[in-house]
Amino acid sequence: MRYCLLCPAIKLDKGYRALVDPEDYVTLNRTGWKVKRSKHGLYAIKYYSDKGHRKGMYLSRRIKGTEKDLIEHHRNGYTMDYRKENLQTMWPKDHQVEHQRKRISGIIGGKARLRDQRI
Ligand SMILES: [Zn+2]
Repeated sequence: MRYCLLCPAIKLDKGYRALVDPEDYVTLNRTGWKVKRSKHGLYAIKYYSDKGHRKGMYLSRRIKGTEKDLIEHHRNGYTMDYRKENLQTMWPKDHQVEHQRKRISGIIGGKARLRDQRI
């Protein structure tokens, strides 16, 4: 399922693709993006070495230039959708509340639906 037919998608490993805005595709469509599964869902990440330590840069944070105390929320619940209109910078506490609210109202599960993430 694709949410934006005209949006370009960066290829990750394991057959996943991350939707991005055209301007981000130009600068970020290089190899090395991988899919990471966490308890909250699937995320696009690139690993790099910092003084011998393996670190990860999330695609959402790369796109938005997110400050370290803040996080990026995927508004529509699809964590493979990295269009800027779908990313919302939030404080962790507000983010938690947002997901609880959605879980209660049943719009989208608080946990991203893994099955629907392959685009
Ligand atoms: Zn979220």
